[in-house]
Amino acid sequence: MAKNYYEILGVEKTATQDEIKAQYRKLVKQYHPDLHPNDEAVAAKFKEINEANEVLSDPDKRKKYDFELENPFAGSGGNYSGGFSGDFSGFSDIFDIFSQFTGGGSSRSTTKAKGTNVVLTVSLSFLDAAKGCKKEISYKRNEPCQTCKGTGAKDGTKYTICDTCKGSGQVQQVMGNSIFRSVKTVVCPKCGGKGKIITEKCTDCTGKGYKQTTTTLSIDIPAGADNGSYITKRGYGNASVNGGEPGDLIVEFKVLPHKLFERKGFDLFVLAPISYKTACLGGKIQVPTLDKPYILTIPDGTQSGKEFVVRNKGINSKYGIGDLHVKVFIEVPTKLTRPQKAKIIEFENDLDIKQLNKMGEYKVNVQSLYGVNPYEDK
Ligand SMILES: [Zn+2]
Ligand SMILES: [Zn+2]
Repeated sequence: MAKNYYEILGVEKTATQDEIKAQYRKLVKQYHPDLHPNDEAVAAKFKEINEANEVLSDPDKRKKYDFELENPFAGSGGNYSGGFSGDFSGFSDIFDIFSQFTGGGSSRSTTKAKGTNVVLTVSLSFLDAAKGCKKEISYKRNEPCQTCKGTGAKDGTKYTICDTCKGSGQVQQVMGNSIFRSVKTVVCPKCGGKGKIITEKCTDCTGKGYKQTTTTLSIDIPAGADNGSYITKRGYGNASVNGGEPGDLIVEFKVLPHKLFERKGFDLFVLAPISYKTACLGGKIQVPTLDKPYILTIPDGTQSGKEFVVRNKGINSKYGIGDLHVKVFIEVPTKLTRPQKAKIIEFENDLDIKQLNKMGEYKVNVQSLYGVNPYEDK
């Protein structure tokens, strides 16, 4: 999870640019290192404040940051496992000596465990991810058994409430010895989290209370979906084991590469070929954007590898607009006739560019050729 810049600056998420500016000034006066010489903690805090201000005071950066803040799993690799695993076979051996269970009595007794989340990874084409799309997905999840109303008991009635957890499916586990002690909430070891003891099983679901079904869902994917970003569909996960709320469906995105474009956040990157003539004399070229070509003016004397930034022609997401970065390279003709070759030689001989002539001279000192000594870091 990224740092919360709003908390660092002490402003609301809805703060205006003026409020942010005012608060930043206030904090600078308070934490400036000149006022606290040799105080490393203050120096670190000051650095953090500047970092936060740099992002929040820039509306574009702030939008992107807000997007990341709302997508806390972005880039984390996705560890969404929530709830309980359902496998308690090794439960008693590790904690037996130190632990004891307490159930019921507390407010916990009414808590019903939420079902586990289902995590799906969906591959999107580059353009679908950049422009947004609708996608139909099918996945398997556990849904409550209709026959027993999710109880797992025959007719939905052949069960008793578990007396260890008083029906909550969860217990407080006290661990440790007389000095170190910790309390945490764990799955009830007696009923396995169901909160009840089934006396006669539902034959339809063999007592599980749920059945695996295939769910098909149409989801709206907003423009700008990126690798590791995700959307959550509340309640579309697995059924709870004891009648609590179902878990969520988490759809994580994987964006496939594109032949021309690359992206970083909402910014698009494209390589554009230009002719030697355009590089020397300038001209106009067509560069692709996500929907239609953009006419870019190349100034005279443009070097190969030069990058041009076209503002706001990147990905247009509700979380922000990116730029289009166009890196030009000079496309060199590969099949030349003898007269064409002669013209090029004639042309270069005519140029009074010492550097150009030197490039062909392999005996010359490499330092004078490149203008710097490549064997030193300076
Ligand atoms: Zn059933
Ligand atoms: Zn129990």
